[in-house]
Amino acid sequence: MGKGDSILVAVRVRPFNDREKTRNCKLVIEMPDEGTTVIRDPKTNEEKRFTYDHSYWSHDGFSEKKNGYFEPTDAHYADQKRVFEDLGRGVLANAWAGYNCSLFAYGQTGSGKSYSIVGFKNNKGIVPIVCEELFKQITEKKKKNMQFEVFVSMMEIYCEKVRDLLTTTPPPKGGLKVREHPKNGFYVENLTTVPVNGFKEIETKIEEGTKNRTIAATQMNATSSRAHTIFKITFNQKSSKQGGGASMKKSEINLVDLAGSERQSAAGTEGDRLKEGIVINQSLTTLGRVIKALHDSQKANGGKKTQIPYRDSVLTCLLKNALGGNSKTIMIAAISPADINYEETLSTLRFADRAKSIKTNAVVNENQTERALRELREENLRLQGQIQGGGDGSNEEIEKLRQQLAENQKEMEEMEKSWQQKIAEEASKHIGGASEKAEMEAKKKKMCHLWNLNEDPALTNVIVHFIPIGDTVVGKWLEIYSPKYFHFKGNKPTSSGNFIQMSGLSILPQHAVLKNGNNNAVHLHPYSEVSFFLIF
Ligand code: ADP
Ligand code: MG
Repeated sequence: MGKGDSILVAVRVRPFNDREKTRNCKLVIEMPDEGTTVIRDPKTNEEKRFTYDHSYWSHDGFSEKKNGYFEPTDAHYADQKRVFEDLGRGVLANAWAGYNCSLFAYGQTGSGKSYSIVGFKNNKGIVPIVCEELFKQITEKKKKNMQFEVFVSMMEIYCEKVRDLLTTTPPPKGGLKVREHPKNGFYVENLTTVPVNGFKEIETKIEEGTKNRTIAATQMNATSSRAHTIFKITFNQKSSKQGGGASMKKSEINLVDLAGSERQSAAGTEGDRLKEGIVINQSLTTLGRVIKALHDSQKANGGKKTQIPYRDSVLTCLLKNALGGNSKTIMIAAISPADINYEETLSTLRFADRAKSIKTNAVVNENQTERALRELREENLRLQGQIQGGGDGSNEEIEKLRQQLAENQKEMEEMEKSWQQKIAEEASKHIGGASEKAEMEAKKKKMCHLWNLNEDPALTNVIVHFIPIGDTVVGKWLEIYSPKYFHFKGNKPTSSGNFIQMSGLSILPQHAVLKNGNNNAVHLHPYSEVSFFLIF
C-alpha cells in the first residue's frame, strides 16, 4: 500500500445508467490524471477539484467482450482487473504478512459499490478475485510444516440489528449481540464462521449469504440498499517447529458494502420506512461523525484528545479497527457521473476527502500458540478466583466475569481443534443442503413460478415465488397481513391464503391477484378488480 498507514482512498465513476441516459443527463465528472477528480456544478459551472490515491475512470472507453467482460478500449478506462491490481493485491499481500485489512465501499444507491466489491457475472469484483487468488497462493506455498486455515462469515446490519447471513435459523429478536473483547475489540457474538477449503466453497457461501439477504429483505419489507453487508475472511498461517511448538500469523479481512449514503427524502417516508431511514442514517451519520472526529484529531496533531464516537452505532463499533485501529484500510467511493446526482456526488467526494487524512495503526498479528494457550489458562484461573471471591459484589460484575471465562474457554477449544476436525464438523452440518437445492430445481420444472428482478442486480434471479393452484395475492407484506383478510393467532396468520410480498416504490398494499386454474396458465388481475376475494 506504500503510504504508511493512511487510509487509502479511491474514487470510481461508473457509466450512465438507463435512467440517466433517457433523461439526457450531462456529465459533471472529469478525471484529468490518476489522482484527480473534478466535479462541475451544473447550475453555476463552478468546478471543485479533489485529489485521492486513485481516481478511476470507468465511465466510458470500454466495450463488452463475448463473455460479458468490460474491457478497456482506451487507456483511461479502469476495468475490474486494474482495480484489483491496485487495491486487491495489497489486501492479499497484507493478509500474508499477518495484518488485518479492511476495504469498504461508500456512495449513494446505484453508484457502483457492489460492482467494485462483489461485481456481477464475469466482471468479478474484489471479493471473489481476492478469495480466488488467496487459494491459488496457498496451493503454491504449501509446505510440510505449514498449515493454512481460511474462515468466512457474512453479516448484515439493518436498523442497528446484526443478522447472520450464513445461517437460515431465524435471528434472535434484537439481532445478534455486539460485544467487546478486551484485546481484539468489538465482535459479533455467535456469528457463524465457516471453515473453507477452496474457492468454490467460498463462492457457494457468498451465494448462500446473498440468498439469505434476499429473504431478510422480503420479510422485512426492505430493500437491500438500506442494509450494510460485511463479508469477513479470517486467514491463519500456522507453522510448526521441529521439536514441538507452533506459531500462528492471523489476518482478518473485512470487506464492507455500505448502505446507500443518500439522504432520505421527506416524500414517501412514513411509519416503518421513516423509522428505518432514521436508524440507518444513525449508522451512516455516526460513520460520518467518526471520520470527521478522526480527521480533526489528526489535524490537531497530537493536540487535545478528541473522543471518537464509535459506540454510537453498530456499524462504527464493528469498523473501529478498520478506522482507527489495527488495520490497513482502503475506501472506495463510488459516484454517478450525472448532473442530476450532483449534490449526492459532491457529498461523497467530500466524505472521501476527509477519510484520506485518517491514519490507522496496523500491526502484524503473530503469536506463539503455546504461549497464548498458557496465558489463557492463567487468565481463566484468575477469573475463576474472582468469581469465587464474589467479584465486586454486584451480579453484573459476576455475569461479566462468567462471560469472559466462557469466551476464553471457547477460544481455547478452537485453538486446540485441528483443521481436519473443523472441516469435518462443518461438513456434517451440511448434509441435506445440496438436496434442498435439487428439490427446488425439480419443483421449478413442475410448478408455475415467478423469478425475480430486483433493483439491486446482485439479487436478481435469486428469489423464486411458486404459484399454487387457486388465487395468490401480491402486495406489500404488512398490509396483506391485515386482519381484514386473515385470521390471526398471535401475530401469525392461520388462514391458508396465498400471498407474495413485494416491496418497491410503486407496489400497492394489495396489488394484484394471480389466478392459477390448472397449472397451464396463470392470469394476472389488478387487485381492485377482484373485490370478492379471500373470504374464509
Ligand atoms: P450500488 O451497490 O452502489 O447500489 P451497483 O454496484 O449495484 O450499485 O451498480 C449499479 C449499476 O451500475 C449496476 O447495474 C452495475 O452493473 C452498474 N455499474 C456500476 N459500476 C460500474 C462500472 N464500473 N462499470 C460498468 N457498470 C457499472
Ligand atoms: Mg449494492
